[in-house]
Amino acid sequence: MFLNMYLVKTPWLLKKFYPQLVWDTDKRNRTIYLTFDDGPIPIVTPFVLNILEQYKAKATFFCIGDNATKHTDIFEKVKAAGHAIGNHTFNHLKGWDTEDEVYLDNFVKAEKVLGSHLFRPPYGRIKRSQVKLLKKHSPDVKIIMWDVLSGDFDTNLTPEKCLRNVLKRTEPGSIIVFHDSLKAFERLEYVLPRAMEVWSKEGYAFGCLDH
Ligand SMILES: [Zn+2]
Repeated sequence: MFLNMYLVKTPWLLKKFYPQLVWDTDKRNRTIYLTFDDGPIPIVTPFVLNILEQYKAKATFFCIGDNATKHTDIFEKVKAAGHAIGNHTFNHLKGWDTEDEVYLDNFVKAEKVLGSHLFRPPYGRIKRSQVKLLKKHSPDVKIIMWDVLSGDFDTNLTPEKCLRNVLKRTEPGSIIVFHDSLKAFERLEYVLPRAMEVWSKEGYAFGCLDH
């Protein structure tokens, strides 16, 4: 996703460039943080909820405000299951291509629906001026990036390869990105149950990022 490609593991240089964003968590903690972007939508989000329930796992859903408005029943189910909600803008705006004020308005519009101070910029693309603006508007906002990008949105990636990537890159404290979207579903459906089985056997706990 960066420089017209995506990197499965976030490079240290990027972390250094954006130190005010959250990229991963305490490595001493044998917990991993599963995150699901772009929902909530029918079929895919309920599938994810079901798998999480099987492992008594908590996760964080970075919702598109527009989807949460259209699918309130599914949105309510995510909250009722005790997962954390995060803001992913109202219309999935790409920060680099968007005027700062428009970006802030879209963030605020989603914030009203989602009621969360966690935020993940769509495509991981946000200008420093936008980070500043969001923090000025919502001083307690936490901008959550990731250290493992599953690549589940990549239709050229086989489900098997996607699973291998995710298992190889994950370590204690990792924040892992999946998508509860139709585009990702073919890979997500294969990868999520298998990865969670492996991680549970390895003694990992599944946490949600702070509310
Ligand atoms: Zn997204």
